[in-house]
Amino acid sequence: MIYTNELFAAAKEIIEGRRQKAEAENAKRLAEFEKAEPRYKALKSEMIDSMRIAMATVGADKATTEKVIREQRERNLAAQREIKALLSAHNLPEDYLEPQYTCKKCGDTGSVGIDLCSCFENVLQSLAFEEANRRSPLRFSTFEEFRLDYYSEKVIPEYHCSPRARMTEIFALCKEYAENFDTDSESLFLCGATGLGKTHLSLAIAGEVIKKGYRVIYNSAQNIFSELQREYFSRDNTRQYETLVLECDLLILDDLGTEFSTQFTDAALYNIINTRINMHLPTIINSNYTQKQVEEKYSQRISSRIIGEYACLFLLGNDVRQQKSEA
Ligand SMILES: [Zn+2]
Repeated sequence: MIYTNELFAAAKEIIEGRRQKAEAENAKRLAEFEKAEPRYKALKSEMIDSMRIAMATVGADKATTEKVIREQRERNLAAQREIKALLSAHNLPEDYLEPQYTCKKCGDTGSVGIDLCSCFENVLQSLAFEEANRRSPLRFSTFEEFRLDYYSEKVIPEYHCSPRARMTEIFALCKEYAENFDTDSESLFLCGATGLGKTHLSLAIAGEVIKKGYRVIYNSAQNIFSELQREYFSRDNTRQYETLVLECDLLILDDLGTEFSTQFTDAALYNIINTRINMHLPTIINSNYTQKQVEEKYSQRISSRIIGEYACLFLLGNDVRQQKSEA
């Protein structure tokens, strides 16, 4: 994936910060250990002295140089053995006097040879997701906060079940979905009237899925389309946001149907749904529309994919938000 220059600079700063922190902490540890263990300080100066002696033999005959180098190596090894013993006497690990880098592979430099280190890629990706979701008005919710007692136990004849029974089932299903989530999970279409908990349930799923380390994008359909449009018509040709929306592990598209519909949003929606189905990546769509209304509002190529490929969860009840505000 291609990232913007700003993101690249921000990632570089984070990695550089990690390195500086590791080295500053190391300098502090070294100073403390020297103070607590004078013998360590003496050993260190012995090692430096012996290096100086070795350097001084530059230009001497081969036999002398070899002898000096051999002696220096032996002195060094002996000093290192003694330092190890000192650390062990203080119950400290062998690498205590070395900088403790976050990434052992690159020593927090961000690169391995001429390649970017995987730690740098990870920071870039995390920043990109943070930035994308920062523009979302949605906040995480939890399953624990979900109140089933707001849903009536009275059976609705038309559906042969009560909202409570339906929502108990849907709640369990969403919880299980979050617990067992992987990128092979199915896509969900949560539909039903306003205020029945579609957003709550999908953001509770998002929270759990993110905790497992998956990359999630969540926003209202309108905001996602606006952001895609802004990116499309700007000079930013990295298509960073579009790539995240199309390729993230889980995409949550809230409130589909309330967007201002244009040719652009229609094409963008089809592209999102189709690309993610082809890549076998799960999407959760929330909408006040029923499947039938989706068929009426959207083109057949969009509605047939939602109806054919998504598991539909139809929520029942009275507006929970209204009940909460009246409570
Ligand atoms: Zn690294």
